[in-house]
Amino acid sequence: MTHPAHPAPTDSPVSPDRAPGGGGPIRPMPLVLMYHSVDEYDEDPHQITVTPARFARQLAWLRSAGLRGVGMRELLDAHADGRARGLVGLTFDDGYADFATRVTPTLLRFGFSATVFVVTERIGGDNAWDDGPRKPLMTVGQIASVARSGMEVASHGLRHVPLPAASDDALAAELAGSRAALERIVGEPVTGFAYPYGHAGAREAAAAEAAGYDYACAIDPYEPSRHALARTYIGERDRRLRLRAKVVRHELRWRSRV
Ligand SMILES: [Zn+2]
Repeated sequence: MTHPAHPAPTDSPVSPDRAPGGGGPIRPMPLVLMYHSVDEYDEDPHQITVTPARFARQLAWLRSAGLRGVGMRELLDAHADGRARGLVGLTFDDGYADFATRVTPTLLRFGFSATVFVVTERIGGDNAWDDGPRKPLMTVGQIASVARSGMEVASHGLRHVPLPAASDDALAAELAGSRAALERIVGEPVTGFAYPYGHAGAREAAAAEAAGYDYACAIDPYEPSRHALARTYIGERDRRLRLRAKVVRHELRWRSRV
């Protein structure tokens, strides 16, 4: 994606993240990190789990780099106002129970927040869609509790199915049904979505927007947009130097595009 017409200074207060004509974004997003689970583990074939000690060190590194972790809604609001410098988006896919028991207390200790993406028909169950080890998911009570603690609760669909393979009707149901279920739990509008497996094409991004979501997170989108936001994977192997490399790589990419 190139933006040849109107180069804008990074985070300029006069350049909101939409082009003047209401078209697509005119500059890439601030850094958004993607996590799944924070827990001790014996085996983790899909590398979705970070140990609590490593997670705390990663947050400490972010803080020492002058970055504060926030949820997507806060990040996007700040970005629109040109206030996103110094913020990094923190996202947690699937809604594992450890988001309530381990992640939220650690984030609060650092003065950080995050967005958690919940699979609504699996609430209180486990990651049955996965061929790796079973991991428990948050209960209704835990979801309500993390929301009260200031975490953003957003949707990861009804059943964690790959949406590009879903029919139009099934896609619409995944988007609308999960949102309604979460709004009943948290008692406020749910404005964010994350595509299961990160998979989204133009049809899925248009459907998420049509379903009323303000933004949607992908993983490595073919065409990044507000409804297909790119994220950077963070795992157990991301110690200080690798974390710094990922932050720098993102900033270089950002600068080269504005
Ligand atoms: Zn997922």
